Amino acid sequence: MSTALVTGATGQDGGYLVERLLAEGHEVHGLVRREDLGGRLPDGLVVHELDLGAPDDDLAGLVEHVAPHELYNLGGVSSVARSWAEPVLTARVSGTAALVLLEAARRVGERRGREVRFLQAASAEIFGEPPTAPQDEDTPVRPVSPYGAAKALAHHAVGIARSRGQYATSVVLYNHESPRRPTTFVTRKITSTVAAIAAGRADRLVLGNLDARRDWGWAPDYVDAMVRAVRHDTPDDYVVATGEAHTVRDFVAAAFARAGIEDWEPLVEVDPALLRPADPSLLVGDATRARTRLGWAPTTTFEGLVAAMVDAERFEN
Ligand code: GDP
Repeated sequence: MSTALVTGATGQDGGYLVERLLAEGHEVHGLVRREDLGGRLPDGLVVHELDLGAPDDDLAGLVEHVAPHELYNLGGVSSVARSWAEPVLTARVSGTAALVLLEAARRVGERRGREVRFLQAASAEIFGEPPTAPQDEDTPVRPVSPYGAAKALAHHAVGIARSRGQYATSVVLYNHESPRRPTTFVTRKITSTVAAIAAGRADRLVLGNLDARRDWGWAPDYVDAMVRAVRHDTPDDYVVATGEAHTVRDFVAAAFARAGIEDWEPLVEVDPALLRPADPSLLVGDATRARTRLGWAPTTTFEGLVAAMVDAERFEN
C-alpha cells in the first residue's frame, strides 16, 4: 500500500481523486482549509487542516511528516475571475506553494532513498490567448491573467525540477466539468438553471458570451489522466483535453434538449455585464501524448457530459 498526499482535496478534482485512491486501497492524506472542515469529506481521508497560503515550514513539515509516495498538487484559487481580485494570494497558493512542495518532496525522497512522485495540476490558462489551435506540450507558455501566470510558474518549476532528475509531472488540464462544479462556472450555471426552469422554479437563463468556445471534458477522466501520469515510469508534461471545442450556445441547446425543452431561445438572455474584457477564444487541446504514452482517452462525449450534468440536477433539486 502506498501513501498519497493531495492538496485541494475538497475541490471537484480533489474529491474524485481522493475517492479513487481510497478505493484502490491507498492511504490518502489531504490538505483541507479550516472553512472546508465542516463540508462533506470522504470517509477514510486523513485530514490535515492546512492552507496552501501557510508558512513554507508548515507546508514542508507536512510533506516530511506524511512522506508520501505520490504528491498531487491540485489546490489553488479556483477561478480566473478571482485571480484578478487577489493576484498576490493567487501567486502564492497557485504558484510559489508548488515550489515549496516540490523542494520538500525532493528532500524527503533523498532522505528516504526513494521517489516522492510529484504531480502538478496546470491549466490551459498558461497558454493565454494562443495564436494557434490546437495547443500541445510545445505551445509557448504566455499567460494573460494572474491565474495563468501563477500556474505557469508552478508548471515551469516542475520542468526545472525534472531536468535536475526529480520525478515531477505537470498535466495541462483544459476545462473539465461535472455535477460537482460550482455554479460560478458556465456549465453548472446552465445545467442548474435549466433544471430549475424545467421544474417551474425559474423563468430565464442569463448569460454572457454565447459564442465563447471551450474544450469541455468530464472531470473524472482528467483525474484518471493524473493517476496514469503519476504511475508512468518517466515524468513529463501532458496536455489533457478532448480536442473538441463547443460554444456556450451548443451547451445551452444540449442542456435544454436533455430537459425536454426544444424552444429555448426565448428563455435565454444575454447580459453585457457578463461579457469578459479578455476571453481566450481558441482553447482546444491536443492530447496525443497522453493518449499514446499513457493510454488515456476521454470516456464521455460532449452530449454525454451535458446529459450527466442535467440528470444530476434532478437529484440536487
Ligand atoms: P473558464 O474557461 O475557466 O473561465 O470557465 P467558465 O465556465 O467560467 O467560462 C467558460 C466560458 O463561458 C467563458 O468564455 C465565459 O465568457 C463564457 N460565459 C458565458 N456566459 C457566462 C456566465 O454567465 N458565467 C460564466 N462563468 N461564464 C460565461
